[in-house]
Amino acid sequence: MKAVVLEEPGSPEGLRLRELPSPELGPRDVLVNVRAAGVCHHDVVVMRGVLRRGIKPNVVMGHEIAGEVAKVGGEVQGVSPGDRVVSILTECCGHCRRCVEGNEHRCLNGHGIGHGVDGGYAEEVRVAGLSLRPIPEGVSFEQAAVCACPIGVVLHAVRDLARPQPGETVVVTGAGGGLGVHATQIAKLMGARVFAVTSSAEKIERLQELGPDEVLFSPDLDFHWEVLALTEDMGAEVVIDTVGSAAFEPAFQSLAQYGRMVMVGEIAGKEIRLNPANLLFKDARLFGTSGVSRKDLDDALELVRRGQVRPVVTSFPLSDAAKVHQMLLDRQLFGRAVLTP
Ligand SMILES: [Zn+2]
Ligand SMILES: [Zn+2]
Repeated sequence: MKAVVLEEPGSPEGLRLRELPSPELGPRDVLVNVRAAGVCHHDVVVMRGVLRRGIKPNVVMGHEIAGEVAKVGGEVQGVSPGDRVVSILTECCGHCRRCVEGNEHRCLNGHGIGHGVDGGYAEEVRVAGLSLRPIPEGVSFEQAAVCACPIGVVLHAVRDLARPQPGETVVVTGAGGGLGVHATQIAKLMGARVFAVTSSAEKIERLQELGPDEVLFSPDLDFHWEVLALTEDMGAEVVIDTVGSAAFEPAFQSLAQYGRMVMVGEIAGKEIRLNPANLLFKDARLFGTSGVSRKDLDDALELVRRGQVRPVVTSFPLSDAAKVHQMLLDRQLFGRAVLTP
């Protein structure tokens, strides 16, 4: 089978299309014929070699996987050949404390798919049966591939952590990215007033089509002035930050008293500056989240099936993996790119 292997971390040239043997299955594993695999900023971080801990040498990248079941191990239940499936981002065990409480993405025996174990930039991938969920009818492989990360991730961030009330203001940073385009839609769906922040002029028009109340164009990331001006100096009750350190200060300054800020992305890998007095005088809450549980994935699939969240996806052939990574580095992609073998 063909697969894209990270042979030399550092740049997109280190990603090479190779012929590999078909993955071997254990009794709890499933062999999936990949139909679409999303390309995430996390993959770029792994590719650049910034994240080294827990990375398998010569790993097949990709943790956003949708496909068709080819074969199942002897102990797998509820998954059969021919099923259309999508994976959570973690290979989970199903019996540890975290798995039992429904936080399979924090499995104590887990491995990150696409960095700790081989992932979906391939024609075939081995996935633990427990990590797979069925794709509802009417949802395509390309759409399903983005239902765990990014859609399930931001669904949890907005719905379960930030919990915007109808009429509250939600600022989404990096709104043109894979997390941002879907966070914008989910916040709108919950009845919030949504400000979508982008630093790319060419993404403004497409962002407007997603229905935010305001698109804030901020190439210098000083958007807090505009947020304060639009909220009578009160600030936004919620910030969903998909950028991380580079946007932390303006994002935090945009936050109202009793505000909730959820950090779901980190592009630059830098430290942030925070005066604790500003946190406590604001009575603010800061959250971090990553990964997705089976339930959040199911909920994301259902929102997409009902047409309440529209996946923003562009397809590229698997052989374009290095090119797509470069496009992501150059911020040329709107929404999510998926690779199709
Ligand atoms: Zn992802
Ligand atoms: Zn577990």
